[in-house]
Amino acid sequence: MSDAIKKDGAREAAEQTPVMRQYFAAKAAHPDCLMFCRIGDFYELFYEDAIVASRELQLTLTARDREKKQPMCGVPYHAAEQYIQRLLRKGYRIALCEQMEDPKLTKKIVRREVTRVLTPGTVVDSGLGAEQSNWLASVCVRGSGGASCVGLALLDLSTGEFRVTEFAGSAAWSQLVDELERVRPVEMLMAEAGIAVLGEGKQPTLRGTTAKDRPPNSAGPHDAAADAMFEGVRTKTALEDWVFTADYAVPLLLRQFGVHSLDGMGLAGHDAAAAAAGAAVHYLQKTMQGGLEHIDTIRFYERSGCLVLDAVSVRNLELVEPLFSGESAQTTLFHTLDACCTPMGKRLLRATLLRPAADLAEVEARLDAVGEAAGDLPRREELRRAMGGVLDMERLLGRVALDSAGPREVMALAETLARLPGVRDAVWSFKAARWVELGRQGRSSAEISTRRSTENSTGNSTGLAGDARSFSTVISTAQAVGFDAMEDLQRRISETIVDEPPINFADGGVIRTGVDAELDELRQLGRSGRQALAAIEERERQRTGIGSLKVRFNSVFGYYLEVTKANSRSVPADYERKQTLVNAERFTTPELKEYEAKILTAQERSGEIERRIFAELRKSLLEAAGRMRETARRVAEIDMLASFAHLAALRGWVRPEVEVSGLLEFVAGRHPVVERRMEESGGGRFVPNSISLEGWFGGSAANPNHGDKTAMNGAPESVRCSSIALITGPNMGGKSTYLRQAALLVVMAQCGCFVPAERMRLGLVDRIYTRIGASDNVARGRSTFMVEMTETAAILNTATARSLVLLDEMGRGTATYDGLSLAWATVEFLHERIGARTLFATHYHELTLLEERLARLKNMRVTVKETAAGIVFLHTVEPGAASKSYGIEVARLAGLPVGVIARAREVLKLHERAETQQVGAALPRASGELPGPALQMTMFTPLSQKIVDRIAAVDVDGLTPREALNLLAELQRELGASS
Ligand code: ADP
Ligand code: MG
Repeated sequence: MSDAIKKDGAREAAEQTPVMRQYFAAKAAHPDCLMFCRIGDFYELFYEDAIVASRELQLTLTARDREKKQPMCGVPYHAAEQYIQRLLRKGYRIALCEQMEDPKLTKKIVRREVTRVLTPGTVVDSGLGAEQSNWLASVCVRGSGGASCVGLALLDLSTGEFRVTEFAGSAAWSQLVDELERVRPVEMLMAEAGIAVLGEGKQPTLRGTTAKDRPPNSAGPHDAAADAMFEGVRTKTALEDWVFTADYAVPLLLRQFGVHSLDGMGLAGHDAAAAAAGAAVHYLQKTMQGGLEHIDTIRFYERSGCLVLDAVSVRNLELVEPLFSGESAQTTLFHTLDACCTPMGKRLLRATLLRPAADLAEVEARLDAVGEAAGDLPRREELRRAMGGVLDMERLLGRVALDSAGPREVMALAETLARLPGVRDAVWSFKAARWVELGRQGRSSAEISTRRSTENSTGNSTGLAGDARSFSTVISTAQAVGFDAMEDLQRRISETIVDEPPINFADGGVIRTGVDAELDELRQLGRSGRQALAAIEERERQRTGIGSLKVRFNSVFGYYLEVTKANSRSVPADYERKQTLVNAERFTTPELKEYEAKILTAQERSGEIERRIFAELRKSLLEAAGRMRETARRVAEIDMLASFAHLAALRGWVRPEVEVSGLLEFVAGRHPVVERRMEESGGGRFVPNSISLEGWFGGSAANPNHGDKTAMNGAPESVRCSSIALITGPNMGGKSTYLRQAALLVVMAQCGCFVPAERMRLGLVDRIYTRIGASDNVARGRSTFMVEMTETAAILNTATARSLVLLDEMGRGTATYDGLSLAWATVEFLHERIGARTLFATHYHELTLLEERLARLKNMRVTVKETAAGIVFLHTVEPGAASKSYGIEVARLAGLPVGVIARAREVLKLHERAETQQVGAALPRASGELPGPALQMTMFTPLSQKIVDRIAAVDVDGLTPREALNLLAELQRELGASS
C-alpha cells in the first residue's frame, strides 16, 4: 500500500469512524502484525493487512468505502482459528484486537484492545507432526570478528524444552547458521540492531555458509550468505536492544525458573547465552498471558562431542528432509530409520541424525544396547509393546501448562503414565550398561552430569575432538532424575477424574465421586431434585389428566411445565403462565420454582468445585513437569535404541566396529534409503559395494609406509592406506549413490545404529562434508559456481584428518580447464595438508593421472556392460580408472550420426595428445615423492616453469627490498613476453 493511501485512509478514517480510530491506534502499537479487529461476529482486516490476508487465505477483498481506498476482508469469529493457523504457518504475526465490552451493554462505541499477539514461535500449531518441533530461536550477538560470541536459545513451547548454547570466535556466525539450518526454528528473535545488520546483508562474513533455495536471478553469491540466515527461518522478530542485556535477562530467568543462580544449569560465564534465553522468556511473557509454568529449566549444550554436520551436508545427504522440496519424505534417512513407537522417540531420532555422537564410549554404549535387544526377540517385542500406547507426554504436558488441556487430555496423560511401569520393567530385563542406566531410578541430576563428564573424559583420552564432552552435557535443576514411572501422579489423576470424562468441562461430571464430600452432596441434591421433578411430572399428569404434560428445562426459562395447545383448557388455575408458543404453553408453579432454585444452585456450586479440583490437579501436574520431562527423555532414548534394534534384526544389519583411528571400511555395504525404495517399488536389487579408506594424520600416520607407494604395490594394505578414492565412470553409473552411502553408514554407525553391510569398521569421524558440483543443482536454480567454491573453501579451511569429505562432480560449473585445475589442486591439498578420508566423484578423467603422483590416492570406477540391447549399469565400484572414450560410446548408442561420432573421436585424440605432453612435462619427478608447487602451476602452462624455477631459487632472507622489487618487475616482464 502506498503511503498516500495510508495517509488518506488514516485521515478519512480518523474523521469518519471511531472504530477506525481504534484500529489505527492498535496498528500503530503493533505495526509488524496482521491486525485482526473484532467487529461483531467477524474479525476484520484493513488496508495492507487485508490485501495480504486475502491473498494468503484466498478471501474476497472488499472495501469499506465506495472509492475503494480502504480495502478490507474478514473471517468469521468462530472459524478464525484455522485461518490464523494458516497465516502463522506462513510465518506471519497476528494481533487480536478484541471488544473489551459487551456490545449489548453499552450504548457508546465498544472499547477495543489488543489482547494477544500470536506468532509462529509462541503458538502451538495444532497440526504439528509428532516428529516436528516448534522452535522459537533467540540470538544474542556480542562483539565482532574473532572476538564475537553468539548466544542461541531454543525453546519449544509445545513440549517446554528449552536449551541454549554459545558460539565463539570467527566461525561463530557460520556455526550459528548451521545450527539454525539443523533446528529449523519457526521464528527467530534478535536485537533490533542485529536484524538491521542482517537485513542489509552486512553481518560479519558468513564464511562457509551455503547455498540455499533461492529464486534464480536473485542477488549475487555474497548476499546468498546473508540470505542463508534468512531462508531457514520464516519469521524474524526484532526486540529492543536492552532486552538482550544480562542485567535484564538474568533476574528474569531466575524468576521464571524459581532458582537463585543459573550456574546449576550450566550458564555460568555464558552471558550471551543467558541474554538470548532471557529475551525468549521476555517475548513469551509479552505475547502470551501465563501458561509458562512448564518452562521451568534450561540446559546448556555444546556441539563438541558430536559428529558435526554442516547445513549443506544435512541437505545433500537428505538426513531428515528431501533435497527437493515437494518430493516425498521417503527419500530421507529419517523415514528409513523411523521404527519408533512414540512421538518422543521420533523427535529424538530426528535430532540424533542431525548430531550423531563422536565419542567412542557413547557410540559403544548405544551399540551394546542395540546389540543386546537385537538379539533378543521376545524381550525386544515386549519392550516395544509396552511403549505402544505411550502418547506424547511432553506435548500433553505442554497443553496442560498452556491451559488448553481438557479432562480427556489429562486422562490420556494418565493412560500414558500407566504404561510407564511396563516400559521400565521391560528395560530392566536387559543388561547392557545403557539399558541399566536408562531404567535406573531416582538420582540427582548433579550426580549424573558429573559422572557423565568423567566417563567422557576417559573416552577422550583416546584422542578425538579435543575437549569433547558427552553429546548430552545435560545439566538441569536439582530434580529427581532417573526413570520415574510416576505411579503417584497416575494414581492421582485416575482417582480424581472419571473414566470417561466429557469433552467439555462445562458439561460437568468430570470429577469422581468420593473426591470431595461437598461435591458428592451437591450431586446427590441435584439427583434427588431431578427425581422430585420426575415425581412432579407424574403427579401433575394424574391431576390434570393431560398425558403429554412434561417437565422441561432450558437455559433461558429454567424449569417449566409444558402443555400442548390442544390441552390448554385442562390447565389448573394454580399454574402460572410463563411463555406461549405456537403449539404449546409453558407454566410454572411455586413448588417447581423452589426445586429449580435448589437444582441450579447445586449445579453452579458443584461446577465451581469441579473447576477448583481440576485446577489443583493441573497444578500438581505442572509441579511434576521436571520429572515428567526427564522420564520422557528416557522413554525417547529407549524407544530410539529399541527401534534401531528392531531394524537391525528385521533387515539383517550388522554392528559396526567403531574405534579411534583413521579407518573407514565396509564390505558389501548398501545405501539404506535407495535399497529400501528399490525393494518397495520392486525395482530390482541394490548392488552392494565395499570401501576402504584410511585418513592420514599429517605424517604421523598409523602406517609408516605412507608415501612409499611402490613398496606396497599389490599388497592388500595398499588399498587400505588410501585416504582419497577418486571415482570415475559414466553418468548414471552410481557414483553419487556410492558417495552418499558411505556418509550415511557413518552417520548411522555414530548414531548407535547397526548398518546395512556385511561388515563395517569405522574410525570415528569428527565432521562430514558433502558438496555437489553446480550442475547437479541447476534444476533448483540455486547453486552458482561461486557458492560451490565457497563451500569448498569451507572444507579446505576446516576439515581435519578425522573428517569424511565427499566431493561430487566438483568444478562442473565453470570452464573445463578452470574446473579441472581447481579440482586437481583441491585433491592435492586434501591429500597433502588435510589427509581426510575423501571420496571424490568426477567426470574429469584427467584427474585419474593423480594416482601415479599421490601416494594415498586410488582410482575407482563404476562399471557398465555393453550389450546388444544397450548399456547395462552394473553399479559395481571397483579399482581402476574409467575408460575415457565412454562418453562417445554412449553417444553412439544413443544414435548420434556416424559422421559426428567419427569427428568427435578425432578431436578427442588431438586433445589427448596435447594434454599428455603437457601433463607429462609436469611430471618430472619420481612417483612417491610429494609434488612440489612447481608441478601444480605448470600443469597447463609449461612456459611459466622458468619463472617458477627462478622464484624457487631465490634466497628470500638475503634480498633487499629493492632487489625484491626489481626481481618482481623482471618476472613480470618475462611473463608478459611469454604469454
Ligand atoms: P552417477 O552419480 O554416477 O550419475 P547415481 O549415483 O546418480 O549415478 O545413480 C544412478 C542411478 O543408479 C540411480 O537411480 C540409483 O538409484 C542407481 N544406483 C546407484 N547405485 C546403485 C547400486 N549400487 N545398486 C542399484 N542401483 C544403483
Ligand atoms: Mg552423480
